[in-house]
Amino acid sequence: MWFWNKEALTNMSALSSSAAPLDVLAIAAHRDDVEQTCGGTLLRMAQRGRRTGILDLTQGEMGTRGTAEDRAQEAAEAAKILRVSWRQALDIPDGRVENTWENRLKVARVIREQRPRVLILPYWEGRHPDHYTASTLGYEACFLAGLAKLDVSVARAPSPASQDADAASLPPHRPFKIIYATLYYDVRPTFVVDITELFETRFQALMAYKSQYSDQEAGKDLFPAQAEIRARIEAMARFYGLLGGVTYAEPFLQKEVGLVEDLTLIPVKSI
Ligand SMILES: [Zn+2]
Repeated sequence: MWFWNKEALTNMSALSSSAAPLDVLAIAAHRDDVEQTCGGTLLRMAQRGRRTGILDLTQGEMGTRGTAEDRAQEAAEAAKILRVSWRQALDIPDGRVENTWENRLKVARVIREQRPRVLILPYWEGRHPDHYTASTLGYEACFLAGLAKLDVSVARAPSPASQDADAASLPPHRPFKIIYATLYYDVRPTFVVDITELFETRFQALMAYKSQYSDQEAGKDLFPAQAEIRARIEAMARFYGLLGGVTYAEPFLQKEVGLVEDLTLIPVKSI
């Protein structure tokens, strides 16, 4: 179900706190990060009837190619392809994702509004400071969101649509589970999600960012050609698929140990 309006493309959802909670929310620094790191997993969850969402911390105004408005439209298109129920972009400056009190409150407000059961964050190490900072920022925002006495109404509403929501009355909430999408960093995942059937659709979601990925003159030396992008993405998905005994997969890490009911049902062959 879609709730976005063309007047506020960066604010794709007019959902208030009364909407159904999200089963899975993915938070990332930049529009198109989720499409690259865990888009197949979100689509798989949606296919299983789960309600999924994406929170982009920035709007992409520093990109070499295209404007923030272009990226908003492309993000909406990508979200449709991934069958995401809710997507929004905060106004944190692109290239300057900082773990400040103000930013933690903004994210905490979204956590309380959307009440996700599972939160996907980027892994906490990496090349791009926005990515690894988003990880810590997201984790600490979850902690704050659960503090009963914390008032998140001081955080500016992420969209005009949710200005009406009385943020002060949002009950505290913490996700039950926080997992980390590790695709951007060379670390061994603790589990992978099979996206074999969804690989092509996920690739189409990424290609919805036409301003970024279609072959063009601007930034030609910075950006690989589309065929090369596809080859790289496929190689990564194949690699993680191999670890899980399937064709294509997306990698994740959880800090907690696994809990097992029945030894005979543990997946992934050992020998
Ligand atoms: Zn990024």
